[in-house]
Amino acid sequence: MISSEPLLRSFVEVRPESHFPIQNLPFGIFTPKVGGRARAGVAIGEMVLDLAVLEAQGFFDGPQLRSQHVFSQPALNAFMALGRPAWQEARATIQQLLRADNPTLRDNAELCSQALWPTAGVTMSLPADIGDYTDFYSSREHATNVGIMFRGRENALMPNWLHLPVAYHGRASSVVTSGTAIHRPQGQTMAEGAPAPLFAPSRSLDFELEMGFFVGLGNQLGAPIPATEAAGHIFGLVLVNDWSARDIQRWEYQPLGPFLAKNFATSISPWVVTLEALAPFRVPGPAQEPEPLPYLRSREEWAYDIHLEALLQSEAMSEPVVITRSNFRHLYWNMAQQLAHHTITGCNLRPGDLLASGTISGPTPDSYGSLLELTWRGERPIQLPSGETRKFLQDGDRLTLTGWGQGDGYRIGFGEVTGQILPARAV
Ligand code: MN
Repeated sequence: MISSEPLLRSFVEVRPESHFPIQNLPFGIFTPKVGGRARAGVAIGEMVLDLAVLEAQGFFDGPQLRSQHVFSQPALNAFMALGRPAWQEARATIQQLLRADNPTLRDNAELCSQALWPTAGVTMSLPADIGDYTDFYSSREHATNVGIMFRGRENALMPNWLHLPVAYHGRASSVVTSGTAIHRPQGQTMAEGAPAPLFAPSRSLDFELEMGFFVGLGNQLGAPIPATEAAGHIFGLVLVNDWSARDIQRWEYQPLGPFLAKNFATSISPWVVTLEALAPFRVPGPAQEPEPLPYLRSREEWAYDIHLEALLQSEAMSEPVVITRSNFRHLYWNMAQQLAHHTITGCNLRPGDLLASGTISGPTPDSYGSLLELTWRGERPIQLPSGETRKFLQDGDRLTLTGWGQGDGYRIGFGEVTGQILPARAV
């Protein structure tokens, strides 16, 4: 990328590898550890800018946000519901206040002490009240790998897969924020050749490397969102770990798809990165052949070059190790198509709904987005630096996802989403 403009900088210190420079400005919900209510903030370097304080002092005085009180609430739903012009107005105001050459906040020590919190001094919570959660299955590589394992190479992709973005309705109540520990689920499993199912803790607990987007502006029941209007409805993106119990899934999934294998927990990163921040990383997606039906055509480029990693740390390890590297750009079905397909029946989406991508696997074995694929159903265990091996997650293991777009001299990142596996609870 050739640019003659000097890189915009903040008066708040931002290290070069930070995920949160002034070009990012992701929205989240935080609570100061010293006390106070949950409210909206924006990450900048190692600090959190308190939007509730700025709102109370009248800094959001543009036509979209004046007389709104969206940032003092414990969820971003009301802000999300205002739509793209309001999101852009907020971003412009925040970016202006954080600029290195703007003295308004920089030189106001009292305001700085009220409005800037060290990240270490706050607790993050879910960015929104999530009314509904849908998980797609939009990576061709992932669907092909799973299809080969369960049905053989000839029938790897189901006949519908290249014609529509397959998905299931997930469980919103168990979406949790980064850091929440995950108890190993228990359930029915059916071993190959066994005469009857067994009830036991899952022995094949897995992660899924995904991204998801929050619906901003919703749609009325009966009024589909055209793919060409998707941008007005997508508030921003987070990292998603769709924890999955493969043995439970294998026994229960036909004919209606995943149920208990995935409903016990889904973890998301706390900072929502906007489409504005991600704009420099927009790239063409994979060629789609056969051409999708007209309602799934979006014309614009809807893939994003976002580097993704999963890291694993067992209790015997002193630091995590990267076990896969993938990229959001590999997704076959894009967000505009997911939104158009989800609503084509007239299904209404509401502000704060979460739509996840499905496991994002790349084309090579070191870029697969789940242990199911990385170990090929447990046939090729991965080696850890501690000398241990893993087919699936063990109690005590910590799984972390991270991701970022690499700009010229800056990084637009998502932070991380992490969770440790705890033993199954006694029934
Ligand atoms: Mn999934």
